[in-house]
Amino acid sequence: MAATLDDIPTLSALYKDKTVLPSDDEPAYKPSSALNDRISVIRQDITKLAVDSIVNAANNSLLGGGGVDGAIHRAAGPKLYDECETLDGCETGSAKITDGYELPSRKVIHAVGPIYWKEGKTNAAELLAGCYRTSLQLAVDNNCRSIAFSALSTGVYGYPSDEASLVAIETVRKFLGEERADKLDRVIFCNFLEKDETAYFKNIPLFFPPAHIDDASVEEPGTSTEPSEMLSQLPDAPTEDPKDVEDVEQPSTKKQKTDDTDDDFVVVEKEDATEAKSKSEIV
Ligand code: ADP
Repeated sequence: MAATLDDIPTLSALYKDKTVLPSDDEPAYKPSSALNDRISVIRQDITKLAVDSIVNAANNSLLGGGGVDGAIHRAAGPKLYDECETLDGCETGSAKITDGYELPSRKVIHAVGPIYWKEGKTNAAELLAGCYRTSLQLAVDNNCRSIAFSALSTGVYGYPSDEASLVAIETVRKFLGEERADKLDRVIFCNFLEKDETAYFKNIPLFFPPAHIDDASVEEPGTSTEPSEMLSQLPDAPTEDPKDVEDVEQPSTKKQKTDDTDDDFVVVEKEDATEAKSKSEIV
């Protein structure tokens, strides 16, 4: 069953539960319980989220790949591929939006993150921030009140989780400080592997510090479900350690629909020049 916003604990709840602890370092922003109520960090299969939009870690072709891209295309069905074919690809550091088709999410935002070591640290950070910013703008432009990000570029594209999380969280924090961000009710950082979740738990207090540290252990009246309980109830949370997960699909080939199978979503393993520039040559 797909998880709705009600199933996904907010950062405020994670602080209260002590799942996330305040940082020893000085936060870069002032505490805001209103903002902490609009942020979530979960470890979950993003294809199982019934939110307004999910953000795919796509490649420049937008025609599918491995990792989260493959999982999203499989769950959305062939119509997603057909719509992606009409988009004419996407620049690195930007994003494009499609419908969600058979996914529980209404929209899919396809963001093309940087390949870390090809870009170098500074360029990569700018491009990654561009992905997050453009995705947030697209969500607002398309009346999506909730958006769940996969951990862009931290898979095959090799972006270190700690660095990537800092860029992601800061970009979201800046966006939520803008006026039009009122149109967003919830921004969810949806990790799949423990290394990414750990990075988010460590770094999120720098940008979204706890608003009521003194109240952290006091149960609010009417709180019937503890956050940790909510986290454990999320469907299909990964149970394997990252190192053991062969199935996270970091492919050396790309899945492509054949020309003569327009009506059926038949995929074949096929070397692709666009992909060779990105994922396949780096595994
Ligand atoms: P990239 O090429 O941008 O690195 P990947 O798909 O390899 O893209 O990885 C991006 C992130 O998506 C990684 O953190 C990976 O663990 C995560 N991921 C893989 N499958 C899923 C999934 N089903 N749901 C959410 N995140 C996923």
